[in-house]
Order: sequence, then structure tokens, then C-alpha cells
Amino acid sequence: MSKIHDECGVIGVCGSNAADRAVMGLHALQHRGQESAGAASFDGHLHTHKAMGLIDRVFGEPPSLPGNMAVAHNRYSTSGKSVGINAGPFTQETDLGPIALAHNGNIVNADALRQLVAESGLVPHSTSDSELLAMMLKVAPGDGWFQRIQFLATHAVGSYSLTILTADGVIGVRDPLGNRPLSLGTWTDSNGQGWALASESCAFPLMGATLIRDIAPGEVVQIREGGVINLGRLAASRQAFCAFEYIYIARPDSIIGGRSVHEVRRAMGAELADEHPANADVIIAVPDSGTSGALGYAERSGIPFGEGLIKNRYVGRTFIQPSHAERQRLIRMKFGVLPLTGKRVVLVDDSIVRGNTLTPICELLKEAGATEIHVRIASPRIHDPCYLGVDMASHEELIANHIHEDEMARRFDADSVAHISVEGLLRAIRGTKANTCLACFTGEYPIEIGSRRAAGQLEAVPA
Ligand code: SF4
Repeated sequence: MSKIHDECGVIGVCGSNAADRAVMGLHALQHRGQESAGAASFDGHLHTHKAMGLIDRVFGEPPSLPGNMAVAHNRYSTSGKSVGINAGPFTQETDLGPIALAHNGNIVNADALRQLVAESGLVPHSTSDSELLAMMLKVAPGDGWFQRIQFLATHAVGSYSLTILTADGVIGVRDPLGNRPLSLGTWTDSNGQGWALASESCAFPLMGATLIRDIAPGEVVQIREGGVINLGRLAASRQAFCAFEYIYIARPDSIIGGRSVHEVRRAMGAELADEHPANADVIIAVPDSGTSGALGYAERSGIPFGEGLIKNRYVGRTFIQPSHAERQRLIRMKFGVLPLTGKRVVLVDDSIVRGNTLTPICELLKEAGATEIHVRIASPRIHDPCYLGVDMASHEELIANHIHEDEMARRFDADSVAHISVEGLLRAIRGTKANTCLACFTGEYPIEIGSRRAAGQLEAVPA
């Protein structure tokens, strides 16, 4: 059960029922952000609708968003406050026509961008870095969108997958690091062929679309009536896809890099079983994020997978309280437990951040009769905060910076605790250190962090 918060989901559509499809796609991306949602469409004029809350609430009474092009966005605030004015998408009137921009990621040099747009007399209304990106496209030099996006890429440091609604098509941009995912899909109906962009491919079935491929790192495409145009490729020195998309953020039924996220998580579980075997009778998961990894552990170890913790799906987000009694109460609200009498248990979870939920979970399992608990974690130890769009925790709050696994086991009242290695993770995701961001495990950031942090210029994702 991760204490990590996702960042945002973005959608772009060109074709029939564009806004309806965009909103349907957003529903499938609700896990990426629950604070606000919005959509914009174009029929010669821009139409927008956005508000705080879950997508059902924001689009409970469908607004009139006409036209055959649309973008949509849901937000978890990784930068800027959680208030309505920070809800996306963000609109701008430019000399190339109106735009509406939806952004997934985090810009670390927002102050510098604020200064840059101020030189052109623009004052952001919000504290969102996404509004700054829309303003950058307004003030950037160039008489075409690709030149302006190149200007943006030269000045903005951080991560960004964008969908940008313009008068002549919807543009999809993946930052040169390829830090956040973005996929391209299509459908055909009686009105002809349509095109879609989405943070994750799990959005496409709800939109009536099928996945074609990932947008490549640095790739800029435009979907418009008549097809997909490749506008160009942004220069990149390296790639750095976020390993946490595979570990926790993306939905298991999404396909990223040609592989289902479920399959990748099973491979992580198999690596964990190889690296950290345990004598046990049953493998159980902390649902839902530990389930695929637990299945992989069970398959590789030959120990049966079993249901243990039953999640109460009607309990919303639980904010972990400082006292043990309060944590125990919240965990009991969130999970029921099946009998585990006399069983030695391997408990698989996706990650340990602050480490304050595993003690009450282990307590529950012991009460259900478990005689041994071996905690296995499908991410390496997390030592460093994320500056690229995942709301994790501060350096001081991360438990791995304070105690080793033996001490964690004592604290959780487990018999052992072990994490997958960075090498095991890379094998499971079929990535390399050169094309994957592993910074929260290794402290080696794919963007220059040290001097910015020292100079106080770094806008970290707030914990
Ligand atoms: S630091 Fe961690 S969470 Fe952030 S982008 Fe890198 S791998 Fe993802």
C-alpha cells in the first residue's frame, strides 16, 4: 500500500464526440489524480469546463463542449496548491490562435519561467507550473508550434507529457527524458477514423480506441483530421522513464514500452523471489498495488498465492495519523483479513515510504493466526525525494534513511524485510541505468539537481 501520490493524467482527442471521449478517457486515469478535473474543446472557439473533485462530480452534468477536438486533465497537485484556480487544462490566446494545455509532470525551475513570462508582461493567475507552460508557448518565438515547443524544452527543466489543443489539431509532447508516459491510439466509426492521446493506454478502451504505440521520448506529434503528423523530435542527452510508473503509478492493465504493467510487476515479484526467498506456506499481497508482484513471487517460488487482506473499497484516502492506535484503526477500516492459522506468510507490497502502515498490517495478520511474516518489497529502498512529478516524502521522512531492514522487521513485528535490488528492478522492467529514472533509490537524478538545491532554486514536489 503505497503512500505515494500520483501526479496527473492527460488526454487529447481528434474525431467524433471528442469531448465525451476525452472525459471517458479521464475516468480510466482517475488513479493519477483525484483533486480536480477539466476538459476543453474547440469548434472555432475554445470551450472549457473544470472544477475541483472527482471526475464523476466535475462532469456529473455534462457541459456543452462542442467540436471534434478536445483535451482533458485530472490533477493531483505536485506543485501549486490544491485549489480550483490550479485545475487544468490552462488556456491562452496566442498569435497562432487559442490553446488549452494539459500537463503531467513537474517543472523544477518554475521561478525562472515565471520571470521569463513576466518579461513579456504576463502574470500567472495560478501557482501551477502547467499554466506557466501554456504562457511559455504564447511568448515563445517562432511561427510554428514545433519551434515554440523547442523553445519551451530549452527553458523548462523537469518532466512533462503534454496534450495541447490548438486551432488546427491536438499536439502531443513527451519531454526529452520520456519521464512520464504518453500513448497514441485510434478508432474508426461511421464518422471515419479518429485519434487519441492518453497518459496510459488503459484509457483507450473506454474511449472506444485501441493502442497504436507509445509516443517516444522527445517526440512531438499532432493529431488532426486526416491523421497523425510528426512535428519533430526534441533534442535529448539521455532518457529517464520513471521506474515508479511500473512499480506503482500506472494501472496494471496499461501497456507501456510494449509490455503490460501487470506483466512487469509479476516479473518484479519473480526477481524478488530469486533475490529474497523465504520458507513460507502462502504468498499474500497488500492490495491492490502489491497483487501483481505477489503473483509473480508465488509463480517463481512455487508457494501458493492466497487471499489474505481484503480491501474495503469504500474507504477513501486515509491520512496516516501519528499515534499507533489511530493508525491501527485506519488500517482496520481499510482491510479485513482472512484466517491464516498456523501459516508462514510472505507479504508483498510495492514500496515502503515512511513505513508507518506495515506495523498495523502485520498486527492484523498475526491476529489472524500467521506464525511468521516475511515482508517483500517490489521497489528498492527509497532514499531520496522525487522532483519530477511524484509526491513521495521528504528526505527526513523516508524510513530507509534511518533504519536498515533488520530494524524495520523489528519495528513492523515481522520476521524479515527485504527489498528488490536496483539491478533486479532493471531486469524486470527491461530497462537500463541510461534510460530509466532511479533517482529516488540512487540519488542520481537525470536532471541537474545539486546546485539548484544548494541555491534554493529547486521546486520539489511537496510532501
Ligand atoms: S525520482 Fe523516483 S518517482 Fe521520481 S521520476 Fe525518478 S523514479 Fe520516478
